[in-house]
This record gives sequence, structure tokens and C-alpha cells, in this order.
Amino acid sequence: MQTLIELLHNKYRSLSTGKPASYIPELAKANAQDFAIVITTVNGEQFCAGDFDKQFTLQSTSKPFIYGMALAEYGREEVISKVGVEPTGEAFNSIVELEKRTHRPYNPMINSGAIAISSLIKGNNLKNRESNMMSMFEAFAGHQLEISNDVFESEKLTAHRNRSIAHLLRHFDVIDEKIDETLDLYFKQCSILVDTKDLSMMAATLANSGVNPNTKKSAIPSKYVGDVLSLMFTCGMYDSSGEWAYSIGVPAKSGVSGAIFGVVPGEFGIAVYSPPIDEKGHSTRGVEVFKEFSHECNLSIFRKTII
Ligand code: GLN
Repeated sequence: MQTLIELLHNKYRSLSTGKPASYIPELAKANAQDFAIVITTVNGEQFCAGDFDKQFTLQSTSKPFIYGMALAEYGREEVISKVGVEPTGEAFNSIVELEKRTHRPYNPMINSGAIAISSLIKGNNLKNRESNMMSMFEAFAGHQLEISNDVFESEKLTAHRNRSIAHLLRHFDVIDEKIDETLDLYFKQCSILVDTKDLSMMAATLANSGVNPNTKKSAIPSKYVGDVLSLMFTCGMYDSSGEWAYSIGVPAKSGVSGAIFGVVPGEFGIAVYSPPIDEKGHSTRGVEVFKEFSHECNLSIFRKTII
């Protein structure tokens, strides 16, 4: 495993396609050379290559976790009444797409779905809700986490599109009147700082039925892990989810900071960080690493060869 990820790191570090996201100005400051790959097994063993302790913000890789939290707190039926489970074939920030009859966002892996899910975070005030949310992320990571205030402010100032999505959701009664609070919680979850080791550990927690391999504490009930992973699989890579399923075949989620994580249930979590992203918002080096890694380790659930 260690040899393989070092090989992949060496092979793809010179890949120069893509650019760090700039629509959130603070993200444009990322170093395009940063590149890390970390595998964490369900026993907590880690294999690391590159800049594995360089910090970045979760961005949309936060979405599966916050969805898991909503399932744990409200149960499947109530969560599904707010947000569907169908892929859209649209970009992550799509405005037009709400389900025709119910007006639910199609799924929790796109911005509209994650904003609707954020409105469900429990607590009496913003501070309290933020602290509940952070406890859940910390249970996945296995230690305390911080929020980047610079990224939070930068996104908040420029989030006209997400703001319009939230107002549309309010119009259709999908979220309550605390629109700004919901958006703050959404921007804050996107601005949580982790390094590639943390994200890989969070992925391994999903691979380990919701139990952190190090702390042995449960982050979400195991019965909801399948909900989270199936949505990552069908919707986690937005309008290239089909291609991802076809060529890589493991549930995964990307974020515009350049992070991608994948989960091989019962075995391990994988995280890759490299800021340059393609036009769909996926780390260009990350996509190549996942393709080759999946092929080398025979990971695709559809391409298992019988030995
Ligand atoms: N915070 C980002 C946004 O809402 C997350 C998008 C992403 O990572 N794809 O635009």
C-alpha cells in the first residue's frame, strides 16, 4: 500500500491541469503544488504520501457527514421528506433543479440539498447549533477541529448563488425562516479545517460502520452508513457521478478545495488533496490517483474478479 501510494504520488505530482477554485477568493490562495494521498484502514493504520499534514477546508466533502448527522437525529423518513435521493446530472451549485411535485432538492450531495440539511441542525441559537455540528465532525475525525474564519468570511461575502438557493428553498417551505443562520451553518461546515490524514480517518470511520478506528467511538449509527455511502456513490461527484461509478466504482465525494475521499466498506478510507480542480470541481490529480488506485487494487464493486 505504502509503495503504491508513493508511486502514484510521484507519477501525478507533475500533472499540471486544472486551477485552484477562485470563486471563493480565499481558496485561490492555495498552493497548486500541494499534493497528498492517505489511506486509513478500519484498524486505524495509516499510509501517507506527500503533504499529508497540510491543512485545507472541507468544502463539499462535508456534505456526506452532515447528512449522516441529520439521519441520526431525525431518522430516515423525516430527512427524506426534506431532501430526495436522486442524482441530478447537474453541477453542484445548480439553482433550477428542485423536484417538480415536492420541491425537495434532489439529493444531499449538492448545495441545495446540503443547505436544506443544514437547516435541520438542532440547537437554541447559532452558537449552540455550530457546536453540535462540530461535535459530529470531531467524532468522525477523532479529535477537535477548527473552522477557518478567513474562508468562512470569504465564502459568506461572495455566496450570492447559495443565498438565492436558500431563498428558493424558503419560498417552497423546505427550510424555515432562519435563512441566514442556515447559510452560516452551511458556510461553516464548508470551512472546517482538516489535513489529508483527518479526511482519510473520517472516510475510514464510514468504512468502519460509523465507528472511528482510533477512538472506537461511534460518530453515526451504523444503520445510516449505507444511506450516506449510496448517495455518495450516485451523487457525490455531481455531473460526473456516472463516469466515476463506471471507471472507479467506489463511493466518493469531492470538494472545491481540491479534496476527494472514497470509502471501501469494511476495509479502508482514501483521501487525496491537491488544489487544482477541473471544470466540474474535482481535483485533477485526485481523479487520476483514484482511477489508477482503484484499478490496481481491484476496488470497483462492479469489476471484482473471482480468484
Ligand atoms: N462551499 C462551496 C460552495 O458552496 C462548496 C462547493 C464544493 O465544494 N463543490 O460553493
